[in-house]
Amino acid sequence: MRPLIGVLCGYDGGDGGAFSAKDSIPHSYAACVLKAGGSPLLVPCTDDPEAALAALQACSGLIVTGGADVDPALYGEEPRPELGAISPERDALDRYTVDFMLQHPDLPVLGICRGIQSINAFAGGTLIQDIRSQVNGALKHSQQAPGWYGTHDLRLEPGSQFAETLGEVPLRTNSFHHQAVAQVAEGFRAVAHSADGVIEAVERIGARFCIGVQFHPEIMAPRSERLARLFTRLVAEAARG
Ligand code: MN
Repeated sequence: MRPLIGVLCGYDGGDGGAFSAKDSIPHSYAACVLKAGGSPLLVPCTDDPEAALAALQACSGLIVTGGADVDPALYGEEPRPELGAISPERDALDRYTVDFMLQHPDLPVLGICRGIQSINAFAGGTLIQDIRSQVNGALKHSQQAPGWYGTHDLRLEPGSQFAETLGEVPLRTNSFHHQAVAQVAEGFRAVAHSADGVIEAVERIGARFCIGVQFHPEIMAPRSERLARLFTRLVAEAARG
């Protein structure tokens, strides 16, 4: 049987029209789960922890998806002028999700873009609010190229679960982020960096499979067997129960 993989939705309040508010997420996440043999379960935003818990408990694996910036107040900082849009609705769902996954180290989890950031922030770490204004010598992390096209290299930490899944040779990835992990949360470690020192992947120490990536493998996987492995591994671990 296909394992259920929870895919967190973002929240879009719309223009106030009767049908404009939406829970939504790009199809590419679900497409990768389906291709890897899983069954995606979209989880809408909620500020009710019990409602979130019921959905999370039904899942054998999770994808903490991309989306808006995390409210810096949630990691103890005031907002810098370069902070982008934030979403209290999505922050609530991610907080419940990260609390849940921290209590369940055997639950396979893949965090993507905002996902690596919210996992790190809600696990007790901090974020760079804006790479361009806070990192000296920063590379271009907001690429203006097709999403399937890699524009900067990552150096992978030998011996990490991340490198074990993808191989240790440098990995060329896409880049669509203006924030990144700053101080890594306790219990996690950085497992990939770009040439400017920006953290591009973290993993939870001792967890069965818990990886956060700053790039968007769900866009590259259809053309990259190497990046598709993140989803096949997530689904395979979830299927093992
Ligand atoms: Mn990048």
